[in-house]
Amino acid sequence: MRDLLPPGVALQGERGIAFVIAGPSGAGKSSVISALLARDPRLVFSVSVTTRPPRPHEVHGRDYYFVSAAEFDRLLAEGALLEWTEYQGHRYGTPKSEVVPRLEQGLDVVLNVEVRGALALKGAGLGHPVVLIFLVPPSWEELVRRVRGRGTEDEAALRERLRIARHELSCIPAFEYLVVNDELEKAVARVEAIIQAERMRVVRCA
Ligand code: 5GP
Repeated sequence: MRDLLPPGVALQGERGIAFVIAGPSGAGKSSVISALLARDPRLVFSVSVTTRPPRPHEVHGRDYYFVSAAEFDRLLAEGALLEWTEYQGHRYGTPKSEVVPRLEQGLDVVLNVEVRGALALKGAGLGHPVVLIFLVPPSWEELVRRVRGRGTEDEAALRERLRIARHELSCIPAFEYLVVNDELEKAVARVEAIIQAERMRVVRCA
């Protein structure tokens, strides 16, 4: 196909693309991302560092790199994080090493971050396309039900998650795509459609 293109024109998918999936607690970001990764070998997940303790099912190096506060400080001081944030008393950050080398290899990187992190990544000057996707549950009622159903936190922490979720929803206008996660399979198919379309985008190159 390449030989059909006029000079100075390329397909965006020839280079690595960062797909940033943000959205409130209860949107189902982790489930959607797991399904995407299982289906598309060109997608790799950016494993974040966090000072939050692991939940029972979580695996170090797969879900997060679980680090001490001192280790997080060291990464920050070294400039090893592309962005970071504090969320409910814990810190979370995106290691450059999870993103930059992979984009350079032509892989597409999927990130699971909160809203501020997503916007920071868009402005991080990665030199590769950064696509911002906002995932939501079908209604506020369903969001509350999912957050409560998780059952890993006390009432005060749940209320805080809901307060943060309200704020995050107000940032939807800064995103490029909005995907409703009413049923996992449908939501995954919608995000896959975005990924395919972004790869087929025609771009001018030098
Ligand atoms: P959880 O503790 O539920 O795993 O994650 C809490 C929030 O932190 C989620 O909204 C998740 O997307 C976000 N998060 C996870 N890793 C990062 C990161 O590296 N950077 C930012 N900005 N947010 C993150």
